Amino acid sequence: MTNDTWGQARESLQTAIGKNNYQTWIEPLTFVSCEDGVAEFGVQTSFQGDWVSRNFGEEMLRQFDKLDAGVDRLRFSVQPKRSAPAKQAQAPEEFARPQAPKPQKKATATEEALLGAPLDKRFTFDRFVVGKPNELAHAAARRVAEGGPVSFNPLFLYGGVGLGKTHLMHAIAWELQQRSPELRVVYLSAEQFMYRFIQALRDRQMMDFKSLFRSVDVLMVDDVQFIAGKDSTQDEFFHTFNALIDQQKQIIISADRAPGEIDGLEERIRSRLQWGLVVDLHPTDYELRLGILQQKVEQYRSQYQELKISDGVLEFLAHRISNNVRVLEGALTRLFALASLVGREITLEMAQESLADILRQSDRKVTMDEIMRKICDYYNVRMSDLLSPKRSRNIARPRQMAMWLAKHLTQRSYPEIGKRFGNRDHTTVIHAVRKIEELKAQDSQVAEDAELLRRMLEA
Ligand code: ADP
Ligand code: MG
Repeated sequence: MTNDTWGQARESLQTAIGKNNYQTWIEPLTFVSCEDGVAEFGVQTSFQGDWVSRNFGEEMLRQFDKLDAGVDRLRFSVQPKRSAPAKQAQAPEEFARPQAPKPQKKATATEEALLGAPLDKRFTFDRFVVGKPNELAHAAARRVAEGGPVSFNPLFLYGGVGLGKTHLMHAIAWELQQRSPELRVVYLSAEQFMYRFIQALRDRQMMDFKSLFRSVDVLMVDDVQFIAGKDSTQDEFFHTFNALIDQQKQIIISADRAPGEIDGLEERIRSRLQWGLVVDLHPTDYELRLGILQQKVEQYRSQYQELKISDGVLEFLAHRISNNVRVLEGALTRLFALASLVGREITLEMAQESLADILRQSDRKVTMDEIMRKICDYYNVRMSDLLSPKRSRNIARPRQMAMWLAKHLTQRSYPEIGKRFGNRDHTTVIHAVRKIEELKAQDSQVAEDAELLRRMLEA
């Protein structure tokens, strides 16, 4: 078989197994060689090779037969990828044609989502910029990635969307595979876990499902909040979790909030998740955003072409674009495209113009109204009371919290905030903000309330 034949085979494979399967599993394969009837393909993880071999091996051979490619066997070997950490090629996964091939089942959408997702090759530790808001999470991830016995199990990472949870998990997986290629590292989202579980139930393959999950060395489940309220999935997750912990296998979990804040999560799971180390990724700050922007520009320059950006453009973006790193990246991608089109230095004006919509969206600051409504919900007080002159503690405290939030989440001045809260004087607002700061330092309940409310409003 030649590269050309592989090209043709790929086309018919796409029709045979569906576009999604194709993109997820076949496209990432690299054709290495074909000798003595053995076609060798490079994969990024042994896991990926396993999966392709088991699920699409027959179909691949069928397509090769049609093209008279002279292939009797497939071999999948883990290849060092250019941008992924270099690693030793490991014992290849082989797929030999079964004696009497069973008719190939049509792959379904559920099946396709069955096994862990392939890892994103950009999500390595090298490319993770560390700053104050994520330094703890980063340190914990590094520690787990070193392998060997870890004193915390599971590692539970949480934080808002786009703050780097998935990036860190993939980075751990890459690093572990580089250090110990023999380890079976499985990364998947909680949603994929559920699909696999349902599929196994339907196909009466629960034994396979259980033994597969109990045989991994490191299990990573991303966005675990997804299984909240889904009882049988939670149950299975719980058993898998316990079995692995009993065998002292490392587990890494992520969620968009702390275990205690995930509604609809069984109490026993919640408490198990808190056994290990729970660390959060805080919303990015200006320095971290700037650092990320600078790193991405460097990468772009080293990979593609010279890129001239006027002084102050990155600083401007770091100031104006929100916490979510994904949004920041989107803005940069557009700037890169612009730069390659205009072929000259990107000025601040050009940046502002081409990113107008993103900037407008990021400008969507929390409104006073939203703050007040959230406070009423949270503390169960009436809006009219919040605005009234009443000074009993059960109303004054929520009102102070609302003012504190208004000061931190909006651009409003003290007098403006005072006016909005039943025409109060600006000194009252100043006092309220100070009061909450003081209480936050002394009373962990207040600190938690403030943090939670801020997160909810910013989400
Ligand atoms: P989450 O899973 O928390 O929603 P992701 O890990 O998917 O977020 O991150 C979103 C995007 O931002 C990814 O492209 C990721 O590489 C990037 N990113 C997030 N944090 C950092 C960081 N500290 N340094 C570099 N890139 C980052
Ligand atoms: Mg994620």
